[in-house]
Amino acid sequence: MKSIIFIAPPAAGKGTLSRMIEEKYHLPHISTGDLLRDAVASDTAQAKELKQQMESGVLISDEIILDLLTERIKNSDCDNGYILDGFPRTLKQAEDYEKILKELGKTLGEVIYVGVSKDVAMKRITGRVSCPKCKAVYNEFIEESKPKVPGVCDRCGSLLTKRSDDNEKTFQVRFDTYMKSTEPLIQHYEELGKLHRISNDVSKELAFKEIETILNGGN
Ligand code: AMP
Repeated sequence: MKSIIFIAPPAAGKGTLSRMIEEKYHLPHISTGDLLRDAVASDTAQAKELKQQMESGVLISDEIILDLLTERIKNSDCDNGYILDGFPRTLKQAEDYEKILKELGKTLGEVIYVGVSKDVAMKRITGRVSCPKCKAVYNEFIEESKPKVPGVCDRCGSLLTKRSDDNEKTFQVRFDTYMKSTEPLIQHYEELGKLHRISNDVSKELAFKEIETILNGGN
């Protein structure tokens, strides 16, 4: 199986699509946002600073991200590929990542750009709740994405929480930062012949079908 890199603005639904791929193809889902949220759960000064940066919507340093990610992909559950969600976010991260892959004897896989309009993304953000334990994502305002019992994770029964950076003000910064910093990335992967574009404005089922076609060798 190949690895997959998702490039998408916040709330494009890449977390949900990653879960769907994880369940069908048994590839681990690695979100650098989740790796960071786990890392900032401690009480150190560095953790507090990182948390503040994340809450303001700016990007965390490439060095910290690459260290966290390299450790994660060395795990044996990543031997047959994995899904990258939220990484790379800059051209520098993409280039450093390719060097790391070479060192570890791994291949890049396929890169999928998930397009979504800013309006749709904003609506998704305001209703988003997630499970701090198993990382499943729900939306309180979208019928098919609601948890069965309000506030409780369908998968593991933990209490759902709302991310502190899922508010309108931080969302604007996150969306605009993303669009600005990912533009060169898209070009980079296009030049490598690795980029596939799909849209997730309509439904996750439709977007998932497009992903399956890509994974099965179509476009
Ligand atoms: P996400 O869960 O992907 O929306 O990420 C939440 C926040 O974590 C972002 O707004 C950034 O502050 C930080 N972050 C996640 N992934 C990266 C990355 N690859 N590079 C820099 N910062 C990141």
